[in-house]
Amino acid sequence: MTALCETREKSRLESLLETISASRLNSFHSCRLKFYFRYVLEIAKPTSAPQFLGRAVHGALQRWSNARWRGQPQDVESLKTSLVLDWASAQATEPVEWESPLEEHEQQEKAWGLVEMYLRETPIPPDEKPQAVEARVEADLPGLPRLVGVIDLVRPGGRIVDFKTTASTPQHDQAIHRNETQLTAYGLLHREATGQEASGFELHHLVKTKTPKLVVSERGPITAEQEVRFLRLVESYTDGIQREDFVPSPGLQCAACEFFAECGVWNGGDR
Ligand code: SF4
Repeated sequence: MTALCETREKSRLESLLETISASRLNSFHSCRLKFYFRYVLEIAKPTSAPQFLGRAVHGALQRWSNARWRGQPQDVESLKTSLVLDWASAQATEPVEWESPLEEHEQQEKAWGLVEMYLRETPIPPDEKPQAVEARVEADLPGLPRLVGVIDLVRPGGRIVDFKTTASTPQHDQAIHRNETQLTAYGLLHREATGQEASGFELHHLVKTKTPKLVVSERGPITAEQEVRFLRLVESYTDGIQREDFVPSPGLQCAACEFFAECGVWNGGDR
């Protein structure tokens, strides 16, 4: 490793100890070597088709929430027009290599199909004014990195909603468990921003089945045990970064790992 690379890596490690987000925490505890490639070495990878589609859907739902927040519900046709324009703009800046123009068109139709289904089936009334949309929040964790995050939507009464696109139908308990770190982080951020506990959480999964469907998984306020578990995860993260402990965790997740090639030639961190 050159002196320049070493200095750059040290500076990345320092900044990774200043703040923490739920996605970074999940990435670190899922596979530390993958975390190292993504967040320390910052190896850039092309956007995948599912990521691209997910962002398009997320963008449309954000517009829909923002319109309700302004008290001017958005009509379906203009929402579709916005999705198509946003899609073209994203394709110009972060292009996905579609196999053909037809494939891109089909994926765009699939994204719109998910949004259309959501507008039909969502439990959120069309005239419900959100408390917050895409709220960027930070919270102090005593003696630990500062927690940062963006909450998709806060419904009246402090009910936090997170939108997800997925290929398979989630099971309630599994979905709540897999997303515990993220939901607890949002609960802590909400408390810091409002001085009040979030009253509950909703995961809105938009499922990309042949006929798209919506699965809503609900959870109550964060418990003291969940908060302690979260803090232990952050402590373990901090300790691991300080020791530069970036070992691989081979497992099922390797099938979808974008750093599979880099992992295969990793030399154990010897310099
Ligand atoms: S291939 Fe597997 S073990 Fe290697 S970095 Fe990716 S997730 Fe980790």
